[in-house]
Amino acid sequence: MNTTVPSAGTGTAGTATGGTSSPLPAPCSPLPVIAGGVPDDAAARLERYTAAERLRWAAETFGGRAAIGTSFQGAGIVALHLAAEAGLKLAVFTLDTGLLFPETLALKAALEARFGIEIESVRPRLSLDAQAAEYGAALWERDPDLCCQLRKVMPLSDKLASLDCWLTGVRREQAASRAVTGILERNERAGGRVLWKLNPLADWSRNQVWAHIRANDLPYNPLHDAGYRSIGCSVCTRPSGACDADERAGRWTGFNKTECGIHTFLKQSSTTTKP
Ligand code: SF4
Repeated sequence: MNTTVPSAGTGTAGTATGGTSSPLPAPCSPLPVIAGGVPDDAAARLERYTAAERLRWAAETFGGRAAIGTSFQGAGIVALHLAAEAGLKLAVFTLDTGLLFPETLALKAALEARFGIEIESVRPRLSLDAQAAEYGAALWERDPDLCCQLRKVMPLSDKLASLDCWLTGVRREQAASRAVTGILERNERAGGRVLWKLNPLADWSRNQVWAHIRANDLPYNPLHDAGYRSIGCSVCTRPSGACDADERAGRWTGFNKTECGIHTFLKQSSTTTKP
């Protein structure tokens, strides 16, 4: 038995503040919920809370205007589990590009069955055939940025128009491009509308995520056991070395590209840095 398995909902931030004289509330103190808004210091406070407490805050603050977006990487699976364990009614969606691995689709069904939820599949406006007719076959081999824009970013942008808070599985440790991810980030959309982005597991390590999955016998993508560390579209994902520092090294091999764009297209109007 792995004795380093963290308890459910315990992120590194939750263990780093004990015994200090911080003016911020203790990690187990509930954040005040302010109707119709977010406290000015919510981002700073949330940095000190556990992942489960962050999820609860989102559910209580935004209700049906919050949703977990997941591609079923490890952190997304943990988030679904923590939400289910806490009895939180958070909507869940995934971006189905039409090019996902069969194993990923099977995992989606397994998670729905395990947690008794329905995960919405958000799809592109263009079918694969329509995209090929308009932009040529296998666009991902020539212009993956445009392909990601059409099949991921645009559908996500449409989906986010119905939300006030988007919950993700982004972790700081995943890649250099994600190292400064805040637990709570404020984004402004067209017309000045605010969209909050909550990354409840941003401070979790890969080892914490997988220890939690193993300890709770959660379903996961079997491709991980075949050397795939980060799993996206089947045509753009390859196994990557276990010692590769960048967890996302197996994505878009041969291109100078590490992000599909869904975590970089929003205009961030404030951020928090790592505590
Ligand atoms: S990951 Fe590849 S196939 Fe999927 S949307 Fe991006 S470029 Fe297209």
